Amino acid sequence: MAERLPPKARAKIPRQLMPERNAAERAGDFGEVNSGFDVALAGKEAQRCLACADPKCVHGCPVGVKVREVIDLVLDGEYLRAAAKLREDNVLPAVTGRVCPQENQCEGACILGKRFASLAIGHIERFVADYERQTGSVGLPDRAPSTGKKVAIVGSGPAGLSCAGDLILKGHTVTVFEALHEIGGVLVYGIPEFRLPKEVVRNEVENLRRMGVEFQTDVVIGKTITVDELFEEMGYAAVFIATGAGLPKFMNIPGEHLGGVYSANEFLTRVNLMKAYDPQHFDSPVYDCAERNVAVIGGGNTAMDAVRCALRLGARNAYIIYRRSEAEMPARLEEVHHAKDEGVQFMTLHNPVEFLGDDKGLLTGARLQKMELGGPDESGRRRPVPMSGSVFVLPIDVAVIAVGTGANPLVQSTTPDMQTNKWGYIVADNDTLRTTKQGVFAGGDIVSGSATVILAMGAGRTAAGSIHEYLSTGVW
Ligand SMILES: Cc1cc2nc3c(=O)[nH]c(=O)nc-3n(C[C@H](O)[C@H](O)[C@H](O)COP(=O)(O)OP(=O)(O)OC[C@H]3O[C@@H](n4cnc5c(N)ncnc54)[C@H](O)[C@@H]3O)c2cc1C
Repeated sequence: MAERLPPKARAKIPRQLMPERNAAERAGDFGEVNSGFDVALAGKEAQRCLACADPKCVHGCPVGVKVREVIDLVLDGEYLRAAAKLREDNVLPAVTGRVCPQENQCEGACILGKRFASLAIGHIERFVADYERQTGSVGLPDRAPSTGKKVAIVGSGPAGLSCAGDLILKGHTVTVFEALHEIGGVLVYGIPEFRLPKEVVRNEVENLRRMGVEFQTDVVIGKTITVDELFEEMGYAAVFIATGAGLPKFMNIPGEHLGGVYSANEFLTRVNLMKAYDPQHFDSPVYDCAERNVAVIGGGNTAMDAVRCALRLGARNAYIIYRRSEAEMPARLEEVHHAKDEGVQFMTLHNPVEFLGDDKGLLTGARLQKMELGGPDESGRRRPVPMSGSVFVLPIDVAVIAVGTGANPLVQSTTPDMQTNKWGYIVADNDTLRTTKQGVFAGGDIVSGSATVILAMGAGRTAAGSIHEYLSTGVW
């Protein structure tokens, strides 16, 4: 229980810092970097909340978490009730508390942030969710009586999981089909253990299972079963496609075929899902990074995850090569700070123009072009422009390309009556997430392009509402 202070006293309390492991120690293993708030830190931080009558943080959250009510319960010491309140809008609070770019969402909208540091909403969210998990007292919401209707969800990333969580409560029978052997999408194959322990994701999935959601792994929709077969042979009344945007993009420069050049997706999947970081127990081939020079090309979360993995696999030099300046980097601020603290070397305003190899076809270096910033481009960010006569060779043994991804194409190619756009993403109505095929809804990265965990979850919730309406009325 924490005292409620007068508004002036609240603003005087500094933002409480997330405790984290020492940079030199953590850079040598895959254990979690942040250790989380305890009761005292969570209470102190909650005391900073201004309890706004119209809390902007709630509007800043894509799933509308009732932040003010959660904070109130934390101040009362009612952590389990706070967790239950979080779960009303967010089925993965322990995940979003760790990986959301809060600075652009709830915390970005926080009124405190106008004059002081914004409230650490993400850290409090994580505390509440972890408290609930560690006490083993997850209070699952009540389920409506069975409707007898079956819904298939294709893909088990945050969009699929949040849709499943909402639909099961509405009384539908829900099956999630996942191509991989583990549930969670990017949360398990992309985001590394040191940022999001797999146990946290598994625990959230287990809660969904306890609520009644059925999961089928190793089922590739479009190959094992088609969308049409889900309707015609398996009796599903609606399908939600949430297959993500996991198709790697390359740079199309000479030498990308060389041994030692990876897409970030492949590199991260080998390290995370196939556990290349634990070679004594798991036999997953990944190019040996120990004592090598590793360069990761890109400036987003994926690039930060890949470079920090390389460092933990023993790289002598781990570089980020990014063609704009640090100000334009799309990665979460915390990831950039952590990467720097751990010893990652940032080569901003550099762009690879060629990879070089030896006579065995193995990577030996990259020709890098120095860049400068010109006027803004269509994204509003300043355009990187090559500086003439400034190409040099950086010796590297491993390169990881993290310059973005495209739509996973399989479901679209086997569902010809469902419209896609020119980039291969599924066309879905903004408000209802209905596709052009009756009974089929789509959301998350496969509609929006690569975005964030919470936006994918928001899409899952929208789709669940829309599917429920369709199943209740039968009107398309
Ligand atoms: C390395 C990395 C780090 C990131 N870090 C952050 C971060 O810190 N914060 C943040 O907010 N966002 C982050 N993101 C972005 C975020 O993870 C994605 O926006 C989000 O996961 C998208 O969710 P989704 O459910 O749409 O798709 P995904 O998470 O991609 O899940 C799609 C699932 O569908 C499955 N699937 C695909 N095709 C089929 C098929 N035919 N049949 C059956 N299953 C299929 C896939 O195997 C996958 O499991 C990161 C992304 C990456 C790649």
